[in-house]
Amino acid sequence: HAKRNPECKFVFYEAGMRERTGFTLGLESDLRRAAATGDEFALHFQPKVDMPRRGSHRVIGAEALIRWRHPVRGLVSPAEFIPLAEETGLIWEIGAWTLKEACARLAGWLAAGLDVASVSVNLSPRQFQDARLVNFVRDVVESSGVPPERLELELTEGAMIGDIEKAVTILHGLKGIGIRLSIDDFGTGYSSLAYLKRFPINTLKIDRSFVRDIVQSSTDPAIVSTIVNLADSLGFDTIAEGVETEEQAEMLRRQRCTRIQGFLISRPLDVDAFERFVAENAG
Ligand code: C2E
Ligand code: MG
Ligand code: MG
Ligand code: MG
Repeated sequence: HAKRNPECKFVFYEAGMRERTGFTLGLESDLRRAAATGDEFALHFQPKVDMPRRGSHRVIGAEALIRWRHPVRGLVSPAEFIPLAEETGLIWEIGAWTLKEACARLAGWLAAGLDVASVSVNLSPRQFQDARLVNFVRDVVESSGVPPERLELELTEGAMIGDIEKAVTILHGLKGIGIRLSIDDFGTGYSSLAYLKRFPINTLKIDRSFVRDIVQSSTDPAIVSTIVNLADSLGFDTIAEGVETEEQAEMLRRQRCTRIQGFLISRPLDVDAFERFVAENAG
């Protein structure tokens, strides 16, 4: 008895390990295959609007969000596979697919007379720090023919920590292409004000965590209003992400943030649904 117990534990532990390793390895080799062709990926688009008053909004653009249609697992969320893509380096191929696809969609919409003012694409830290980035973005923008000012890249503060001089150089390189830049999930990272003033960016995206409880919170309205004032002083725009209710939107307006994105306006939409959304919300 006393002998079997530890054995059992050992076997149990080993089986657990094998299963976990198998899971991760499976996902990694699947991701490698998906990244090689891009065929299993799709972009969904979430509208961004300006909503200065209750009930009336103007579409100002959309954020491209990647989806992975896995043949067995079904739809895999980017929250699950982007970290793995970063760890394995596959993020370069996946990010390349995303940028090309986003520019191709935008070019198609503009050619078809659908007035999509801008499309933003997320960049993760490892993409931002890749020496090929600036030339790659320039090549994709030029060959797609989209007006560069209609493309925006969303970066997190985490991408820019470390070597700040290098980050500023990369940001200027991207800016030189004529595209727009925003800081995603703003307020959750480590940007110091000294660095922020040196970043040639256009927009601060106020993180969802400050929006979620803004109606009840005694502090979040003050945080939002501080971010809006800071953005004003530095010449940046603001947009709030994760807006789900009319009350949150109203509270944001009171802090002078009228640009919003979130389920209140629309969930991320597949291409057909997004095209319908833009057509119905035009004019
Ligand atoms: P993010 O860039 O901050 O994107 C916002 C996330 O919040 C999206 O999740 C979006 O679907 C979700 N969201 C939007 N509105 C609401 C709302 O009102 N309420 C709530 N609860 N959620 C809302 P998603 O699509 O799962 O993406 C998660 C993250 O994955 C993104 O966060 C972004 O960091 C990353 N990601 C997505 N697509 C790409 C991509 O193409 N490349 C890279 N590098 N990262 C990506
Ligand atoms: Mg984003
Ligand atoms: Mg965000
Ligand atoms: Mg976020």
